[in-house]
Amino acid sequence: MQLREYTQDDVRGKRVLVRADLNVPLKDGEVADDTRIAASLPNIIKLHEFGALISVISHLGRPKGEPKPELRMEPMAKALERLLKAQNCGLSAVRHVPDCIGAAVQQAVAAQSPDTVLLLENSRFHPGETKNDPEFARQLAQPFEVFVNDAFGTAHRAHASTVGVVEHLSAFAGTLMMREVEALSRITENPARPFVVVLGGKKVSDKLPLLQNLCGRADRVLIGGAMVFTLARALGLSAGKSLVEERHIDACRDIIADYNESATKLVLPEDVTVTDDIESPEKIANRRLAEIEDGEMGVDIGEMTRDAFALQLSEAATIFWNGPMGVFEHKPFDAGTIAVAKAIADNTEAYSVVGGGESVEAVNKLGFADSISHISTGGGASLEFVAGMELPGLKVLAE
Ligand code: ADP
Ligand code: MG
Repeated sequence: MQLREYTQDDVRGKRVLVRADLNVPLKDGEVADDTRIAASLPNIIKLHEFGALISVISHLGRPKGEPKPELRMEPMAKALERLLKAQNCGLSAVRHVPDCIGAAVQQAVAAQSPDTVLLLENSRFHPGETKNDPEFARQLAQPFEVFVNDAFGTAHRAHASTVGVVEHLSAFAGTLMMREVEALSRITENPARPFVVVLGGKKVSDKLPLLQNLCGRADRVLIGGAMVFTLARALGLSAGKSLVEERHIDACRDIIADYNESATKLVLPEDVTVTDDIESPEKIANRRLAEIEDGEMGVDIGEMTRDAFALQLSEAATIFWNGPMGVFEHKPFDAGTIAVAKAIADNTEAYSVVGGGESVEAVNKLGFADSISHISTGGGASLEFVAGMELPGLKVLAE
């Protein structure tokens, strides 16, 4: 997939609306983690160097279409200003505009100097945002000439600030957006082989499109997490009191049949860690997958499986990982996730991508982030991309 990239001629002296993903965690009204704000800097600085007048828009949380004082963008403006100043890039101030449409924006844009960035108010304070209402999109676009979307994390949503505005402005992909799509395309288009995927996490239902799309594309799909147990039930095994999505057992049976007919190997764990209770375990044991007893709950891949997965990963040329192998938030049920993270980090020859909310959290927390080729900021968007689904926010930026 090839996205439209802006040149200096496209943006010089123009009023540019930048869609960024500044949806960061807050604590006591302050930014608790500025990773996403920092990730938005290169695009803003590049636009400034190209001579653009920059206004940034983002959503924050779920205000459900009305203003919520605790979800205003003011703390993000402060954090963005601090980060930009530290870059010595000539951008010295970030001004928070109390709305994202109407007179407030008109006036701020008219009075804007090139060394100031405007940060518009939370786009989801208006119900038209998530409905992609054409009139709201028109109002958003009205003060601007160019639109640059750098918010890969919302590319799977057709909202006014990601899709609707494109109707009215010349539209381009930002630098972070370009980098994400390039990295994920190395997974979806002619990956170097062997191409090994590790899938885990909580709900198999979230990952069914991904499982389907990887069938026939990947060489091996290694399965961990709670997904194991719905697939095990589809094979006729008992899963004790493990997390099973009864409603999806039939879909899992179909998927297993598809894999059996394809060249892709679906690899279930040979063994799993079981416990009686996650919060206060009295019993922890290693069981063969086929031998889980009543009252036992699978909470991690087992000891043999950790070694087997590590071996597969050491031989891979391309790796995609989504979803923790176990309930990694509770020690010692993080052992499988650590083993997989370490195996991916140790394979320095392979091109490796990690995507997904908790998977990225696990890699960061465990300290393996530097040894992985690309950590996607995308969450749901990166999963839909690898699942081969059409992302509306990208479609409107395609060449
Ligand atoms: P991601 O956000 O990376 O896509 P998911 O949201 O699908 O991952 O799943 C993450 C969650 O899955 C974690 O909170 C973890 O505790 C849970 N999980 C992993 N393995 C199991 C298991 N065997 N039983 C219950 N929950 C599990
Ligand atoms: Mg998640």
